[in-house]
Amino acid sequence: MIQDERTKDYYQALIEKNTEYEGIFYVGVKTTGVFCRPTCPARKPKFENCEFYETVQQALLASYRPCQRCRPLSHPNHISEIVQMLVEAVEKNPEKRWKGQDFKALSIDESTARRQFKKRFGMTFVEYARARRMGLALKSIRSGENIIQTQLASGYESSSGFRDAFSRIMGAPPTLVENSLVLKASWLDTPLGPMLAIADETQLYLLEFVDRRGLEREVERLRRKTKAAIVPGQTEPIVSIEQELADYFNGTLTEFKTPLYLLGSPFQKSVWTQLMSIPPGETRSYADLARALGNPNAFRAVAQANGANQLAIVIPCHRVINSDGELGGYGGGITRKQWLLTHEKS
Ligand SMILES: [Zn+2]
Repeated sequence: MIQDERTKDYYQALIEKNTEYEGIFYVGVKTTGVFCRPTCPARKPKFENCEFYETVQQALLASYRPCQRCRPLSHPNHISEIVQMLVEAVEKNPEKRWKGQDFKALSIDESTARRQFKKRFGMTFVEYARARRMGLALKSIRSGENIIQTQLASGYESSSGFRDAFSRIMGAPPTLVENSLVLKASWLDTPLGPMLAIADETQLYLLEFVDRRGLEREVERLRRKTKAAIVPGQTEPIVSIEQELADYFNGTLTEFKTPLYLLGSPFQKSVWTQLMSIPPGETRSYADLARALGNPNAFRAVAQANGANQLAIVIPCHRVINSDGELGGYGGGITRKQWLLTHEKS
């Protein structure tokens, strides 16, 4: 979400239906739960009810659905039938995971759909559907509300995908959880975008950017391994990590002290522990790490363990780069990796 001085400009553009701002921003309307393009013909919301986003994906992950009037997923002068049809299909059944036969049922060519979405929105249709699904699942976490209250407050979701989207990703709703472990999840806004934090009363289990590729599977894996349900809320480790992240981003923190729960094999844990010994401002290669672990040939396994890290920033997998000095990959995206490394150097 854009939170700086641009929001005033954008709001002005919204009021004026300024076509020059098409594609520059999208606006989420808190009172209706939809997101619009700047030129939407519908009545304009109050400034305090607007949230501005640079991309469709960000608006979806913040749980907004596309407006029926201005159709923010279509080019201003051209509504692609395929795009429109697929967007409507997602709204009818937001928790669905799309497979090849689903496209066939709609007589849509999967690769055409992928191309059209990618060209227009920088993400494929499957990524679109996933972002919408995650957005619904993250909705009550983002607002910090109890899931049941959220459902009651909104007729649209109570009858359709919300409960399913939430429970498919986060586990059974709280009413159904009796004796099992309950993990709490919070939405943390950071200068690099929103993060999802999941913890019990004593330890932090997961910290990831909400737009991270594969987050849905990670959360599912966490749930399966811990047999826990995940509900919106805060615990001591979440309060602690929120404060530590704030200090980290303003440059006053070098060591995280929030207790961590490491969910992995003994080898993965040894890699993660090794990662935490890399001081801020420095980097290592996979080969360096493998040598430090006394197993110089294990760099591939080290790379895998690095990728399986579920505690972004705190376990600094972003400090691992290629042997040739290239940045290498990062689950949260290369731009963030570069930002973090630059931030830690200064
Ligand atoms: Zn609209």
